[in-house]
Amino acid sequence: MIVYGLDIGGSKLELSIFDAELTLLKRWRLPTPTSGYAEFLQALKQQIHVADQFVEQAIFANDATGANLSCNKAPIGIALPGVQLESGMMVSSNVWYLNQKAVMLDLIRLLKRPVAVGNDCRLFALSEAQFGAGRHSQRVLGVVLGTGAGAGFCLGGRLLSGAQGLAGEFGHQSIAARVVAKYQLPLLQCGCGLEGCAENYISGAGLGRLYHHFGGMVACSHQWLVAFREGQDAAVRAFDCYLDALGAALAAQVLAYEPHVIVFGGGLSEVSELTDAIPAALARHLFAGVAMPEIKLAEFGATSGGRGAAIAVLQHIHGSAH
Ligand SMILES: [Zn+2]
Repeated sequence: MIVYGLDIGGSKLELSIFDAELTLLKRWRLPTPTSGYAEFLQALKQQIHVADQFVEQAIFANDATGANLSCNKAPIGIALPGVQLESGMMVSSNVWYLNQKAVMLDLIRLLKRPVAVGNDCRLFALSEAQFGAGRHSQRVLGVVLGTGAGAGFCLGGRLLSGAQGLAGEFGHQSIAARVVAKYQLPLLQCGCGLEGCAENYISGAGLGRLYHHFGGMVACSHQWLVAFREGQDAAVRAFDCYLDALGAALAAQVLAYEPHVIVFGGGLSEVSELTDAIPAALARHLFAGVAMPEIKLAEFGATSGGRGAAIAVLQHIHGSAH
């Protein structure tokens, strides 16, 4: 059996082909379409066609890859930014045209095969909890610090979804008052309709905003990193504030879920100065006597979302999705 895992972010779309044991057979990426939903659906249809052709050729060649494959309409798991409501509608996605669209139903209709859609951060957590850095732990919090910021919590290798699929979501919890007061931060308007949501400060975009707040230029996290490594004052102050905000947000998650391990992924988790400083930043916001969870980096890195999506669609097919 073959399964496809798609990881769709604000800037890139990645398709992974796995066998039944979730061994990665092939993977490629392309930019996420920007012009709208119709282009997005067509791009997905085209990429699935390319994937089908790859699998058919492997089977035809009967090579080491194809010998064990029998592929007809491989099921597709898709990791998306945003929340899928019970009605099937996507909301709060930073890929703007996905909002208020029934993405899963539209794709099942278009591709005529099983499709499961889930939040990218929660599927990252599922992947790491089952096969990655959290596989030896019972309680695993997966945290993605990328263009956005989000999380998922797994218990015994299963994603805790909650009544509305929101469990573990911390990007839209309020930034800690003590951090706002300490750094005199503005309460930023969030795309969800609230103001002061943590994601606006602890995401990559948020780090750029903090850099600007402390006197730096209007910048993305990459430009911030260059300035930080040059020792520029505004960039260093933004770093300190960022860690404080992140530490407070993580502390709230520790009190809610008591994870044994927190696994980090996303672009910012590749900045070693930042990840090295996370344990101390978290400890500053936990009261005396609270044990620290282990802090680990994702083993599957950038491919975790697609792998988690593949796991999700297999669970869906086998009727064991939680
Ligand atoms: Zn929000």
